Amino acid sequence: MSTKQQATKEQIFEKAKQQQLWAGHLIAADHLSEATLDNYTPIDNSIIGQIASGNSDDVDTAVQVARDAFENGEWRRLAPAERKAIMQRWCALMHEHVEELAALDCVDAGKPITECLNTDIPATIETFEWYAEAADKVFGKVAPTGSAALGLIVQEPIGVVGAVLPWNFPAQMYAWKVAPALAMGNSVIVKPAELTSLSAYRLTELAYEAGVPREALQMVCGLGENVGAALGQHMDVDMVSFTGSTEVGRLFLQYSAQSNLKEIVLECGGKSPQIVFDDAVLDDAAINDILSAAFWNMSENCSCGSRLLVHSSQKQALLEQLKNGLKGWKVGSPYDPDTAIGPMIEKAHFDKVCHYLKTAKEEGATIVAGGNIREDLGSGWYIEPTIFDHVSADMTLFKEEVFGPLLAVTSFETEEEAIKLANETNYGLAASFYTQNIKRAYRVASSIKAGTVSINGFSEGDITTPFGGYKQSGFGGRDNGLEALAQYAQTKTIWLVN
Ligand code: NAD
Repeated sequence: MSTKQQATKEQIFEKAKQQQLWAGHLIAADHLSEATLDNYTPIDNSIIGQIASGNSDDVDTAVQVARDAFENGEWRRLAPAERKAIMQRWCALMHEHVEELAALDCVDAGKPITECLNTDIPATIETFEWYAEAADKVFGKVAPTGSAALGLIVQEPIGVVGAVLPWNFPAQMYAWKVAPALAMGNSVIVKPAELTSLSAYRLTELAYEAGVPREALQMVCGLGENVGAALGQHMDVDMVSFTGSTEVGRLFLQYSAQSNLKEIVLECGGKSPQIVFDDAVLDDAAINDILSAAFWNMSENCSCGSRLLVHSSQKQALLEQLKNGLKGWKVGSPYDPDTAIGPMIEKAHFDKVCHYLKTAKEEGATIVAGGNIREDLGSGWYIEPTIFDHVSADMTLFKEEVFGPLLAVTSFETEEEAIKLANETNYGLAASFYTQNIKRAYRVASSIKAGTVSINGFSEGDITTPFGGYKQSGFGGRDNGLEALAQYAQTKTIWLVN
């Protein structure tokens, strides 16, 4: 099939059934490794095709190509307006392939198709459009030196950038890293999550079609301990931008320290609080936002509002409303347009979430809604969205990131107690709270240690606002906004003596 033609979602789903979906290395060189891995869909645990399984030699090859491209300047030295034009052509192709890209994320990650069509892929394209537009708006500065010299402060691309991606928002996370890194003129090597490489592969093919040089944007598929580690430890990679677990994020800091002190940016996990104060207005919109924060994307979401802190006076009514609201959240096959909750990404992760479900019960939390494993839905990994009441701060469910649909409810009496509970975590990615009191709104927003705090609703902000974590939720920078562009650049002083 010509890359110009979009495959329909039915064609992608059929290819999945025929085990014909493929994601391979996109490295501008010969003699690559040929090993492959079976690719399973979590929808019914069947094989949908294969992905390439690279090794450190493949990474060496890609890095050499990327380095040469950077030094030759075929992308870096293009006028920013030309980089912008190419990226805009890429966006136009993405618009023509929305359904195909959405179907790939759906079948690969088990994300509901409606979400992929309405949220993930539009947000992916929006990210690329925003950074394409920003590419020719990066200005330097002139320092106030006096007449003895001219001091120019300029932003230069960093060089060879590795983008190591998670599986929970495959296309979107690709966009968050690749769009600003390429817009700044870097040579980028993408390492998609081994569980979800399909949309990254297709997006990269579309990039080539739009005119992005093959040497400036490459992709190496495979396991984290092979490909991810090789990128992290490489002496000629200048930066790695990573999104994933805090545990693996720590490894990248070690890799950097043990190799060439490459720049590291980490976007990691979370255990984000949602706070409902005694004066909160709990209308339908608020209930929908609380449920979305807790269960959107099967709670496989770094900013998931997995701890609900509620003033004791509001608790009973709120729990009733949440229980009723959840009735609208259909658990089922991601192929079904009405489905809101699909399966967990894989068996190992499903087992982990089941373990948290069991532990929460053993530690004394009580189930208000959900709590069932949906074996009736076939051989995928389906768990009902579950609300646990009576969760205290010493319980496992309060402390650890589950990354699955288990919401912990804890009650409080005072604002001070709520803030203390909210901050009682090693993470600090996001928070949301509900109040009508403007003074309290500011006070609480500035007291919560988190990178994004939303008031009277759940939001991660948008492409214009930086996203990233305090404490062990992040390190070294932010995704999104102009802050992300800046992190793919380094600052140089040019001192011209008069
Ligand atoms: P993960 O850490 O297991 O994997 C992330 C990436 O790292 C994958 O590409 C993987 O192959 C690679 N990797 C794994 N082991 C490696 C190793 N030893 N060396 C080098 N690379 C290695 O994370 P995940 O399970 O894919 O994603 C879930 C996590 O991501 C959650 O903790 C979630 O909170 C986090 N997340 C954070 C954000 C954010 O913006 N802060 C966004 C999405 C997901």
